[in-house]
Amino acid sequence: MTEKSADKAASEANERSQAFELLARIFRENASRYKSRYAVAIACLVVIAATTAFSAWIMRDVIDEIFVRQRSELIGIIAGSIVLAFAIRGVAMYGQAVIMAQIGNDLVARYQQRVFDKLMSLSVDYFVEHRSGQLAARLSQNVSAIRDVLSLTITAMARDLLSLIGLVAVMFIQDWRLTLITFLVGPPLFIAIAYITKRSRTIVRQSVTVNARVIGSLQEAVQGISVVKAFTMEDQLSKRISKIIREAQMRSDKLASVTQRLSPISEMLGGFAIAGVVAYGGWRTIEGGQPPGSMFSFITAVLLAYEPAKRLARLRVKLEKAMVNASMIYEIIDMEPRQRDIEGATTLQFETPDIEFVNVSFSYADGTEVLSGVNFTAPAKQVTAIVGPSGAGKTTIISLLERYYDPDEGQILIGGQPIGEVTKASLREAMALVSQSPYLFEGSIRDNIRYGRADATDDEIEEAAKLANAHEFIAATPSGYDTLIGENGVTLSGGQRQRLSIARAIVRNAPILLLDEATSALDNESEKLVQDALETVMRGRTTIVIAHRLSTIRNANKIIVMDRGEIVEEGDHQALTKKKNGLYAKLHALSSAGELPTVEHAEDADRNNV
Ligand code: ADP
Repeated sequence: MTEKSADKAASEANERSQAFELLARIFRENASRYKSRYAVAIACLVVIAATTAFSAWIMRDVIDEIFVRQRSELIGIIAGSIVLAFAIRGVAMYGQAVIMAQIGNDLVARYQQRVFDKLMSLSVDYFVEHRSGQLAARLSQNVSAIRDVLSLTITAMARDLLSLIGLVAVMFIQDWRLTLITFLVGPPLFIAIAYITKRSRTIVRQSVTVNARVIGSLQEAVQGISVVKAFTMEDQLSKRISKIIREAQMRSDKLASVTQRLSPISEMLGGFAIAGVVAYGGWRTIEGGQPPGSMFSFITAVLLAYEPAKRLARLRVKLEKAMVNASMIYEIIDMEPRQRDIEGATTLQFETPDIEFVNVSFSYADGTEVLSGVNFTAPAKQVTAIVGPSGAGKTTIISLLERYYDPDEGQILIGGQPIGEVTKASLREAMALVSQSPYLFEGSIRDNIRYGRADATDDEIEEAAKLANAHEFIAATPSGYDTLIGENGVTLSGGQRQRLSIARAIVRNAPILLLDEATSALDNESEKLVQDALETVMRGRTTIVIAHRLSTIRNANKIIVMDRGEIVEEGDHQALTKKKNGLYAKLHALSSAGELPTVEHAEDADRNNV
């Protein structure tokens, strides 16, 4: 064996053992839960197998006793036993199918829950790296595969394998020599199966991935439909997606052509076996003068064995497909959240909720430093505004505070406690976030406010809505607080959505408020309502706001000016505007429509200033 072929053989053996391990794991994790139900299902399958074998076995008596010996008194018994066997078989099939379906549905539900909980436990960077549409598509395709793995194996083992054993036993009883001859088709069949399984493994994986891309792209296009329309992207998108759709089709075609290769092979081998038996059996009866009953029974057994044998042969190929899907689910289930609470993490406790950044440096996965040596304090119960050109690192400051990421260097302290040493749950409970694009979830308006704090009473929710200037418009909706919100809250205006998300933050009643102020986009009246609501929620809370509006910035107790990941100025509005050549003074001079400009870099401000 050459080195290359040895490697290849080793990797194939490895893949096989991985497939086996996966199968064992799926059984280990699920079989015990369904033990008793599986026992009933398997009993039904055994009955099915037994009745199948019985119908072949009885053929000898049908031929020999009824047709050859013409014993009319046996007709009733034989016909009756056939009816009985088929009736029992029918009941067993029903029982087996219903039980297996129930187990399957329960499995799918449990895995969906498992995967959802796992996804929720992963850190934000996972979702930055994976497209949500594709993730959802993969989940829907893959979860049912685990059900298929289990039901395919169990049905195959209990029904097809047992039927086959029963039928082979009948064949042996009727004519053992002939049985051995039919076994000759085995080896070529095994070789064909091994070849097809190997070929299909890669194609299945590709096909699943491409299909996920198709569904994912559809979902993304639907989600972003307003952008699609606004930029008349329909044709472009359609062309793009048609490429992916065609690719998916091609893969599916390829998969079909590979897996279906089994059909001609197994049909031909089946034909040989049956023809051989008929020829040899016929010759023996005609030349040897044997009664035809046993030969008939044998042929019936072979014919009946053909289907389960074919299904068993296909099982390996079908399982392969299910296993590839199942392994993708386990890839998610086995994922370790990158950023865990440290061992012995305490709950965050503080008397004064001041926030301190000490020498904080941070870079995202790509390695470029986004924050370098950031030092500042946000005094307790006061408003600290962060301003600066876009890309300066303002949002990153909020992400680090929420511990979506951990800093590479330095420390962040709340009330003197390093946030890296406390549980993330307690850290996040101390904070409420109002983001630029308020995200609303499936459910009623009430549910959406209650996401701020699960145990908030209806009165508290209403109170929060009033403080957030949202009560009035909520009361005007058809079912008030029980009105259902469409996907992304399409029935609400931007300002209304923002006020709902402010109500959510008020209900949370957390000592710290993180605010990412939206740039313009609101009409004046809406803007005023949102602004008032924000002022209410800021009162008495330590607030860090990524600010664009001059009114917010002017009223802030402290302004931090950032540029390229560094704090370049610090002070209040008065002090900063007086600073000649200061970045804030420049930005302020350029401000219009009540907002600071969102230039890319400090130099842009310079250029525009001359
Ligand atoms: P700002 O909020 O001031 O506009 P950000 O904090 O969003 O700035 O971004 C600072 C820098 O970090 C930018 O150069 C941006 O491209 C980069 N950045 C932001 N988020 C990520 C991310 N998830 N992965 C890699 N780089 C990022």
